[in-house]
Amino acid sequence: MNENYPELTQRFLNYVAIDTQSDETSTTVPSSTKEVDFLANLAKELEQIGLENVRTMSDGYVFAELASNVADESVPVIGFISHVDTADFNGENIKPQIVKNYDGESSITLGASGYELNPTAFPSLLKYVGHTLITTDGTTLLGADDKAGVAEIITAAAYLVAHPEIKHGALRFGFGPDEEIGIGADNFDTAAFGADFAYTVDGGPAGELEWETFSAASATIDIQGRNVHPGTAKDTMINAIQIAMDFHAQLPEAQRPEHTSGREGFWHVMAITGNPETAQLRYIVRDHDRSKFENRKQILLDIAEKLNKHFGQRRVNVTLKDQYYNMGEVLKDDMRPVALAEKAMKALDITPIIEPVRGGTDGSKITFLGLPTPNLFAGGENMHGRFEYVSTTVMAQATDTILKIIALAQEK
Ligand SMILES: [Zn+2]
Repeated sequence: MNENYPELTQRFLNYVAIDTQSDETSTTVPSSTKEVDFLANLAKELEQIGLENVRTMSDGYVFAELASNVADESVPVIGFISHVDTADFNGENIKPQIVKNYDGESSITLGASGYELNPTAFPSLLKYVGHTLITTDGTTLLGADDKAGVAEIITAAAYLVAHPEIKHGALRFGFGPDEEIGIGADNFDTAAFGADFAYTVDGGPAGELEWETFSAASATIDIQGRNVHPGTAKDTMINAIQIAMDFHAQLPEAQRPEHTSGREGFWHVMAITGNPETAQLRYIVRDHDRSKFENRKQILLDIAEKLNKHFGQRRVNVTLKDQYYNMGEVLKDDMRPVALAEKAMKALDITPIIEPVRGGTDGSKITFLGLPTPNLFAGGENMHGRFEYVSTTVMAQATDTILKIIALAQEK
């Protein structure tokens, strides 16, 4: 498979050599100039390849198109999307190591960092016997999340341009910033993008196909106490820290991230700050099921109400903010993109792995902006840290999957 895409690995290595970390503390869009520069270069590359209507949108996204070469106008317009930023871990001076023909047993030494990848700690390595693996040198992340996705999509697009005999409908490509800080797709312009449905190519091992995510909200609990000298506090002091602890104690212990899996949702306390006068709790709320999700938010309001009643005063205030919703709510009514991806993988002897994501994807937001967008594997393992790696075989499989989806979509 790799022989079909001789430039895929080098393209990926070119991308990861450039630091594109997003910046959570920034107020600009995109959040870092590193991303802006990278996207500007990417736009040039898309033009060089021969894609059409390459343009940079006001939210930083670079869009490109390839016109249909079939007469049938009923063929859906399909989009492929990935993000260029990397996660909150050193992304400067990435020096990838290439391990050829991995034997499935040895430890891979990560440069001179003292860290190593070994199959005891990382059993995922056992899947890659005989593969060429790309790892870090132990001092940075790799950035396969999601530059593997970027390289795979662009390689597939270049392949189609170089092989005009391959029939395809109209195609759309989108590359964006700030996925890792959760805001990159907030204003994704689905009308300008112009696809009937799309895929993010941004995930783990071969076969991953994701069309359900969490629904997500953040909750901030502000607590007002009444501080007096502790020596004369009897029947007077209302300690905000104590209220915060009482508040948290009313949430079921079993429904924390560390005790849940699969389709079980949770409340996750992210921060607690305070003194006897004021305190604050910050939570994230997650559930796949929308009614359970709404109920989880209501429970926070109810606990606050109960405490306020107890004090006879408004001392506890809950601020809720929805972050994204389970794309499955939309996709279940139009499973075309999921069915097509499943069919493509099976045709390539790749076993589809379909599981609800315990998180969100750019597709969670884009789907609710009107463009159904499930997620396809890009190949990364151990993402967001120094142990990240990717198999070049799986990167080629992801490219195959993109091309197979495109081919199947124009067949009757
Ligand atoms: Zn990603």
